[in-house]
Amino acid sequence: MLNLVLFGPPGAGKGTQSNLLIKRYNLVHLSTGDILREEIAIGTVLGLEAKSLMDKGDLVPDEVVISMISSKLDNNPSVNGFIFDGFPRTGAQATALDNLLVEKGTAIAAMLSLKVKDRELIRRLLERGKNSGRSDDQNEKIIANRIQEYNNKTAPLKEFYASQNKLSEIEGIGSVEDIADKLNEVIDTL
Ligand code: AMP
Repeated sequence: MLNLVLFGPPGAGKGTQSNLLIKRYNLVHLSTGDILREEIAIGTVLGLEAKSLMDKGDLVPDEVVISMISSKLDNNPSVNGFIFDGFPRTGAQATALDNLLVEKGTAIAAMLSLKVKDRELIRRLLERGKNSGRSDDQNEKIIANRIQEYNNKTAPLKEFYASQNKLSEIEGIGSVEDIADKLNEVIDTL
């Protein structure tokens, strides 16, 4: 299996690049943000609980996202691999993911980390907010909180994957195609 963590701060381009990677490598895209927004849209209890945190730009509890990912892995038994987008975001999530994949006899092949400066992230998110319908993309204070959550709780995961020799950092500035080429180059050496 080819299991990839597509990593980076909000607005780094993880969703855009995931959509290209799933086609090229025949992978299943697992975005915890997308799954949570689906839960909100269909009005589940889980969605309702997550919404207030997401609206503030805070992370939802580890156990919520871990169990979501666990059932997605169970529901996709014979796939080529997964792209994890927006997950893991904490040390507990990263450890849980490793354990879940061990149970399936597989592992993360690489963490591909997109690097983009804060100012550009804020610009991109505000631009996306004009059409995305996401309230968390429309307010600079909430965006700043999301970036802070990333810096405090999520960015340290680079060390977790670096210690397993799985970290590749990719400049996330440039055209969508150029960034895709750089990601493909790394993946093709795995
Ligand atoms: P995203 O679509 O990845 O930008 O995520 C939107 C929001 O969903 C985040 O600001 C968090 O509130 C929540 N969220 C998504 N994925 C996770 C995760 N792995 N852990 C905790 N919260 C998450």
